[in-house]
Amino acid sequence: MLSLALYEQWHPNDVLIEDAASGQSLLQELRTTLLPISGVKPDGDKFARAASITPAMDEGHFWVLEGASWSDEYLAEMTAFPGAAHDDFVDATVQALSFLRQPPEPGIIGFYRNQVIAASTGTTDAFAECRELIDIYENTRFQIEAGYCRICHTSLFQKASVNDGLGQLCIPCSKRKA
Ligand SMILES: [Zn+2]
Repeated sequence: MLSLALYEQWHPNDVLIEDAASGQSLLQELRTTLLPISGVKPDGDKFARAASITPAMDEGHFWVLEGASWSDEYLAEMTAFPGAAHDDFVDATVQALSFLRQPPEPGIIGFYRNQVIAASTGTTDAFAECRELIDIYENTRFQIEAGYCRICHTSLFQKASVNDGLGQLCIPCSKRKA
């Protein structure tokens, strides 16, 4: 899939997918992967959205990589909008610039949003449902890493042990041996 290939190539922190009719199936498909997906709800019509980012370009805050394999096609499509056959570059540019220009959310808004989420779901912990599984997994991993006594085979998890040169021994076994 093209989205996955591009992700592998660039490893972005966020993958924006238009949360509209055309993006729905892709959004659903990508949500089954581990990609950092954000659904973006487009507001207003295509033309108004494009107009909202035009001032940033007018002021020269937007650079196009000279000599890039895609730059001719990109500039042709951008300058022909809305009369060109395709507007995928325009859509992607509008989405990216709108996203990048979002001011950071003030902490107080996040605080109240978490309160609302907690009131309706009982938790703000996104991992709450799998917390138990994570605990089991981590405990198992710690136990395996801690190893077992070479003689009595008890787990050395959270226990002191000594190495006698042949392997780890629990303290009782090491005293019995000495
Ligand atoms: Zn032992």
